Amino acid sequence: MTTIRQEDFIQSVADAFQFISYYHPVDYIKALHEAYEREESVAAKDAMAQILINSRMCAEGHRPICQDTGIAIAFLRIGMDVRWDATMTPAQMVNEGVRRAYTDQENKLRASILADPDGLRINTKDNTPAVTHVEMVLGDKVEVIVAAKGGGSENKSKFAMLLPNDSIVDWVLSMVPTMGADWCPPGILSLGIGGTPEKAMLLAKWGMMDPIDLHELRARGPSNRAEELRLELFEKVNALGIGAQGLGGLSTVLDVKVNDYPTHAASKPVALLPNCAATRHAHFVLDGSGPAHIEPPSLEDWPRVALDFSTSRRVNLDAVTREEVQAWKSGERLLLSGKLLTGRDAAHKRLTEMLARGEQLPVDFSNRFIYYVGPVDPVRDEAVGPAGPTTASRMDRFTEPLLAQTGLLGMVGKSERGPIAIEAIAKHRAVYCIAVGGAAYLVSKAIRAAKVLAFADLGMEAIYEFDVKDMPVTVAVDAGGNSVHKSGPATWRAKIGKIPVAIA
Ligand code: SF4
Repeated sequence: MTTIRQEDFIQSVADAFQFISYYHPVDYIKALHEAYEREESVAAKDAMAQILINSRMCAEGHRPICQDTGIAIAFLRIGMDVRWDATMTPAQMVNEGVRRAYTDQENKLRASILADPDGLRINTKDNTPAVTHVEMVLGDKVEVIVAAKGGGSENKSKFAMLLPNDSIVDWVLSMVPTMGADWCPPGILSLGIGGTPEKAMLLAKWGMMDPIDLHELRARGPSNRAEELRLELFEKVNALGIGAQGLGGLSTVLDVKVNDYPTHAASKPVALLPNCAATRHAHFVLDGSGPAHIEPPSLEDWPRVALDFSTSRRVNLDAVTREEVQAWKSGERLLLSGKLLTGRDAAHKRLTEMLARGEQLPVDFSNRFIYYVGPVDPVRDEAVGPAGPTTASRMDRFTEPLLAQTGLLGMVGKSERGPIAIEAIAKHRAVYCIAVGGAAYLVSKAIRAAKVLAFADLGMEAIYEFDVKDMPVTVAVDAGGNSVHKSGPATWRAKIGKIPVAIA
């Protein structure tokens, strides 16, 4: 019989969530570096370089890989011979560990969890509660897996109750293009097949935390249906040409995981979950000897990668005009300097409500650029904490009123825009640019100063003014309405040549 002390468990969970906020799993870094070496698309290669450099900087600086430090998830496998020296339940102890990790003053993480999700949506301030799954197993140890999943990739989760003879490959290939770049590829796709709907989801979630080992599977060959599916889907999903950040390229997935479970004769439940460029998970075991120690990786595990901005167009945000923007072409790389406004979901909602009521806005948007971001709080001498882009399509329905009524000139976010936003951008001869999702700490180094201009009550969703210097972005929708997220994947899908390209 092993006794696990409450404090050991809580501190181990807290340490693990801090650890994964700044260390990518080494298998992810190796797989991404191999994909980077193979990549032929200049835009995708540049995005992967930024993710690799960001990752190294986070490992060195112990700051979050992404500004979205995720919803906390814990899988506990508790041995039946374990005794607890505790007054809390396992889920309460996990929550206490999450609270400690996310409010750590040395590396404060972003609190993204809102209570009353279909009502007032009030931030719980410490990222609790976690989502905890408990399973009883044989033995006298407690095995723990913690993960922090970003909203961008969780929002792209898919589930279907297929008919027994439906093709899973066809279903996955119909789903992945609809996920676009919001899940920040390249990453991992994890499938759960069988059981019941909730079992399929859990299988997929569990599977995405296995090490990346597709190269080993390729070398030894498949030994069952799940492994056959992994190989077939790896090849066919990459042949879609979506590429890093949806810019078009050879690598969309670094691995495909498939886990299955017996199911009802009438059913074939299937869950498809993506793990993004901020793949974050850690595993540890408690055996009663004290808190767990997770061995930090060696910095030697990170490749030395260089960025080349010599061909990027330099833009002065303080003097940029609508005429100047008309010359920018989708896919073109820019370096932004000057004053950049920020705002995301809650600020956009409030701004458009004020416009609808005919009220004066607290900020002048005329000829300005707005960055869709919710940064991590700064520590020490930082102007701002990690501050990567958030999913732009959530702002699509606000784009027309803002462009039409405020004189806003440009937007910076992550991944593709939908038809209504593209139409508004073309109509108002504006522009939409992307920064790399999953390169938040690198992006934050371009931000020299930050001050809140309005809506301070919205916390990380307030409107800030950033002073940026050489912030790297790519034109994603130009003033003519041309989208790199349409042209890039179509070009690379045709080049890869394994899947027919539909001509629009
Ligand atoms: S890498 Fe992209 S999807 Fe992942 S947490 Fe960051 S912003 Fe969200």
